[in-house]
Amino acid sequence: MVKIAVASGKGGTGKTFLAMCLAQKLAEVDPIVLDTDVEEPNIGLFLQHNIVQTKNVSRPVPGIDYDKCTLCGECAEVCNFNALAVLADEITLFPELCHSCGACSYLCPENAINEIDYYIGSIEIAKLVHGGQIFTGRLKIGEAYSPPLINAVKDYATNASVVIMDCPPGTTCPMIEAIRGVDFCILAVEPTPFGLHDLNLALEAVHMLKIPCGLVINKWDGDEGVIKELKEKYNLPVLGKIPFSVELASAYAKGEDVFTILPELQEIIESLLDQVRSECRERNISY
Ligand code: SF4
Ligand code: SF4
Repeated sequence: MVKIAVASGKGGTGKTFLAMCLAQKLAEVDPIVLDTDVEEPNIGLFLQHNIVQTKNVSRPVPGIDYDKCTLCGECAEVCNFNALAVLADEITLFPELCHSCGACSYLCPENAINEIDYYIGSIEIAKLVHGGQIFTGRLKIGEAYSPPLINAVKDYATNASVVIMDCPPGTTCPMIEAIRGVDFCILAVEPTPFGLHDLNLALEAVHMLKIPCGLVINKWDGDEGVIKELKEKYNLPVLGKIPFSVELASAYAKGEDVFTILPELQEIIESLLDQVRSECRERNISY
């Protein structure tokens, strides 16, 4: 099994578009598509699917036994996230701030804390009409801590030759959590100063985790200078260039077949996959 993540330093660079193209191109091998952009999952809007099940996801947070609690305050003191506060006559938990580290229950001298389940979102399990399955994480509105849900989505990466992951944008914890453990990371970049600046940050994250990666330039305007600059600066392969096209953007937004609108896209995605395959073969990852 090979796990391919599609990420980007910032939103709006065409990450989901690219992941969708890969899923469509690989439909015949029954890929697993994971939407780990759990705050704003949307790849499912562009891939026809039928939902077969929805599962709730929880994470452990402290539940206080007030009969045992002596209000010593040690739990609040050990919490790095200010999720516990000692009030006049009780301990109050702010579950949204809790990172489920378990330190408070471990250290409570009165054994007054038991971990209880706290609902954080759901995972939609669906069959893709053209082949494969899609697993979509949806974070509960108001929930700020998404890595546990991202990991729960990633747990579904089983029994498939290829897993394609649409990652959260940016370079904070959710993106890091999503790409951790993948075999290859495709970074979607747009040829603008903002795009290149954020690419720097994304690359830091990818290099930190030692994940092989390559770039795909989206909305490319034909300026070869951008490619040269990227190659010189980052010494990374440019795996593909998707030309700027109003017709393509419009078809994508309407959920139409983008390969019909821009036939050369077939070749671009095939070549991109060939390069990922060859990189995986070199590293003895079966694909
Ligand atoms: S550490 Fe235990 S006993 Fe102390 S305030 Fe927290 S819950 Fe109560
Ligand atoms: S589990 Fe960790 S993060 Fe949550 S309240 Fe306890 S110490 Fe704080």
